[in-house]
Amino acid sequence: MWRIMRNRLPTCDNLVKRRIPLGEEEVLCNACCQREESAQHLFLRCPKTEMVWNEIQKWVGVDSVRPDNVEAHFEAFSNLGTRKTSSKFLSVLWACTTWLIWKGRNESRFESKNWEIAKMLGGIKARLWSWNKIFNLLEGEVSFHDWMTKDISYLFV
Ligand SMILES: [Zn+2]
Repeated sequence: MWRIMRNRLPTCDNLVKRRIPLGEEEVLCNACCQREESAQHLFLRCPKTEMVWNEIQKWVGVDSVRPDNVEAHFEAFSNLGTRKTSSKFLSVLWACTTWLIWKGRNESRFESKNWEIAKMLGGIKARLWSWNKIFNLLEGEVSFHDWMTKDISYLFV
């Protein structure tokens, strides 16, 4: 979280700034292969990650403008809910989503795995399920099946 908030992740634009030699194609986002990879692009503006955010927002039943800046995006996203527990849960959800985007990026870049939105979403929801149990983020009961397959907005909005 610290690294993403301070733009200290080794995204391609940051590597170039540090004079790490990268080829013309190496600097491109490997999710869409269209733009230079930066934190802003990778986590917010890439068409693939925009799909992830769309699905996550549908899952929890929130809609928001999406600031271009990573830190502002976190602030906006984590304050979308209305219940007392919402902000904490949405903060954790944001961290989990960006973490799995970064993990997906690394698997694609270094292990030649394809970007699979459905797999990424499943990973986010499954981790949140565990973290919710451990940290008691939300009140209310929901089965694992419903958690994975249905909207959960009624739990915290
Ligand atoms: Zn992209």
